Amino acid sequence: MVQIKLTNTKTRKKEVFTPLDPENVRMYVCGPTVYDRAHLGNARPVVVFDVLYRLLRHVYGADHVTYVRNFTDVDDKINARAAESGRPIGDITAETTQWFLDDMGTLGALEPDHMPRATQYIPQMVAMIETLIADGHAYAAEGHVLFSVDSYKAYGKLSGRSVDDMIAGARVEVAPYKKNPMDFVLWKPSSDDLPGWDSPWGRGRPGWHIECSAMAKELLGDRFDIHAGGNDLMFPHHENEIAQSCCANHTDEMAQVWLHNEMLQVEGKKMSKSLGNFFTVRDLLDQGVPGEVIRFVFLGTHYRKPMDWTEKKRQEAEATLRKWYRQAADALDNIEPYGPLLEALGDDLNTAGAIAELHQLSHADNSPYLRSSLRLLGLMENGIPAWAKHEDFDLSAFERMLFEARQKALESKDFSDVDRIKSALIDAGVEIRMSKSGVDLITASNFDPSKLEALK
Ligand code: AMP
Ligand code: ZN
Repeated sequence: MVQIKLTNTKTRKKEVFTPLDPENVRMYVCGPTVYDRAHLGNARPVVVFDVLYRLLRHVYGADHVTYVRNFTDVDDKINARAAESGRPIGDITAETTQWFLDDMGTLGALEPDHMPRATQYIPQMVAMIETLIADGHAYAAEGHVLFSVDSYKAYGKLSGRSVDDMIAGARVEVAPYKKNPMDFVLWKPSSDDLPGWDSPWGRGRPGWHIECSAMAKELLGDRFDIHAGGNDLMFPHHENEIAQSCCANHTDEMAQVWLHNEMLQVEGKKMSKSLGNFFTVRDLLDQGVPGEVIRFVFLGTHYRKPMDWTEKKRQEAEATLRKWYRQAADALDNIEPYGPLLEALGDDLNTAGAIAELHQLSHADNSPYLRSSLRLLGLMENGIPAWAKHEDFDLSAFERMLFEARQKALESKDFSDVDRIKSALIDAGVEIRMSKSGVDLITASNFDPSKLEALK
C-alpha cells in the first residue's frame, strides 16, 4: 500500500497518515460562500483536495472515503448582494451554487459525497450552541450568543499563536456585550428584513463558524481524519471550529490532520474579492482556456507554496497536455497508475513531482502508464478532448533529433550539432526543455514553422 504523508498544521510536521477507521476515511473541506462566481483562487483548494480525495480513494477504496464540502448559504455578504440587487436570497444562493458546481466540474473536480448547505442544519447548530451554554463555554447577551474563549484552554493551538498575537493580528470586533474582545459570535439577532430562524435567544441567524462544526459532526462524527481549507481560514475560522467542536463534543481533537493550501496570488497579493484583484474561473473558460489546462497549471505548484497564474504557464500546460493526450489516446485504460507517481502524491501531495514522472513516461513513450497516471490526477478522464485534437504542429521529430544529437555529443564532446539545432529551434520560436530523460519542445507565441525547414 502506498504510504501517505501529510503536513499537519496542528503539529507543523509531515506525518504518516493513519486513518481512525480505514473502512471509512473522513475528510471535511470548507466550501464557498455562495453570492458570486468563484474566483480562480477559490478553485485552488477544490483542485488540491480533489487530488487528495482521489488518492485516498485509490489507496483505501472508493467506497471507503467520505468527503464533505459545505456551501455557506447564510452570510452577511449574501444579504448585502440581495439588498443591492433586489433579488431574493434563495435565488442568488441557488444560482451561485450551481455555477460553482459547473465551474469546478470543468476543472475535473469530483463532487464530494456530501455537500451540505448551512441553512439545512440550523437545528443542529442551535442544539450545539445550547450544549455550549449549558457547559459554560458560551453565554447569551443582547440577543447574541458568544463563545467564551477563556473557557477553552487550547484556544490558538492550531495556528500556534498566543491570544495576544491573535488580537493584534485580527480585526477583533469590540462590542459591549462581549466579556472578552476575542469571544466570537455563535448566534446573532436578525431584523425582519434579514433571514432568521426562531431560537431560544429570539429570531436570529448563526455566526459563520458554527455551521462547519455542526455539519461535520452530523456527517462525519465527533472526530474525523482530515480537515482542510485555504490558509486564510486557519485563524479565526478553524481555530473557532476546533473550540466549538471540542467543547460541545467533549473531545480533545476535532480532526487528526489539518491541511492548508497556500494562496493563489496576483503580483504578490492574495487574490480576493475584497481586494478586487480577481478574475473568475468562468472568465478563463469563456476565453477558451480548457478546464483541464487550469487544473494542470495548479498541479504544477505544491499546495503549500504560493502561486501565480501566468499566461506562460497556461501556454506550456496546454502544449504539454496536448502532446500527452495524443500520446496516450490509443492506450488501453486498464492498468494501475505508475508506482513512482503514486509515491510522489503520497509524499504530501507532491503534484509537481508527479508531473515530473509523467514527463519521464512521455519521454519513454510509455503510453499505458501515462494514461492511467493522467487519470489518477483527474486528467483525460473522458478520452481526448476536442481542443487537444486541434491540428498543432507536431514537434516530436525535432525532439528526437535534438535528443539524439545530444547523446552523441556527450560522447564525442563536440556540441556543435546540438548548438546548431538549438539555435534553429529558438529562431523558429520554439522553447526548449532538456532533461536527462528527454527533450520537450513547446511553441512560443512567435512560432514560425516555416523556419524549421532549415533543419530538415
Ligand atoms: P471563501 O468563499 O472566501 O470562504 O473561500 C472559499 C475557499 O477558497 C476557502 O477554502 C479559502 O481559503 C479559499 N481561497 C480564497 N481565496 C483564495 C486564494 N487567493 N488562493 C487560494 N485559496 C483561496
Ligand atoms: Zn469551515
